[in-house]
Amino acid sequence: MKILLSNDDGIAAEGLRSLADSLASLGTLTVVAPDRNRSGASNSLTLDAPLRVINTAPGWYAVNGTPTDCVHLAISGLLSEVHDLVVTGVNDGANLGDDVLYSGTVAGAIEARFLGLSTLAVSVAHQGPGAQYFATGARVARELIDSMIRQPLPEPMILNVNVPDVPYAQLKGLRATRLGFRHRSEPTVASSDPRGRPVYWIGAPGAGQDAGPGTDFHAIAAGYVSVTPLSVDLTRHGALPGLDAWLAARP
Ligand code: MN
Repeated sequence: MKILLSNDDGIAAEGLRSLADSLASLGTLTVVAPDRNRSGASNSLTLDAPLRVINTAPGWYAVNGTPTDCVHLAISGLLSEVHDLVVTGVNDGANLGDDVLYSGTVAGAIEARFLGLSTLAVSVAHQGPGAQYFATGARVARELIDSMIRQPLPEPMILNVNVPDVPYAQLKGLRATRLGFRHRSEPTVASSDPRGRPVYWIGAPGAGQDAGPGTDFHAIAAGYVSVTPLSVDLTRHGALPGLDAWLAARP
């Protein structure tokens, strides 16, 4: 099996190393990842500058681009081999609810949707400054892939996997979830640079608002691995009849 790995925390990130270590026994790995932290890059492509690739180690490629650039480049030009699976992560931080709109980790997984195979974005959800148990997320990723090999999913899926930041033995199990929603984010933080000019930091994400049973937030809070199947179709299908009627009746 040939597995393509990427992330948004950058090629030197501990979570990516941990993922590569864990998945090495499953087949041949190729890593194509941003040369620096591109968290929050979402599904962005670099269109105004060329991408440069540095082969940092056998099978490891650093790109001066986003996670989407990396996966796009890997599957449509850079690599001659066809990959069976794309896995992104292990991200340092949760990708729950509305986080998926901003996440480069999730975007990298979404970019592989045209391969027609399932794809996984894996994140460790933690409180505080940094994740401690990347190995837990990496092991969960390996076990999910192992299960997919033994018994394929009913259809190809983009799976958004969030794992509590605890030792593996403390996980309660796995749950299929839907995305919840967050409260609006914390306000931007105003500061100034050494020359007295104003600068701003984007604030922290808000707490879970729609975080009841069945959501990704709820599973994580209860100590379970959250597995959410994502769809790329953002259409609000339920609103179509009402919009159709409103457009037709417009004065
Ligand atoms: Mn990240």
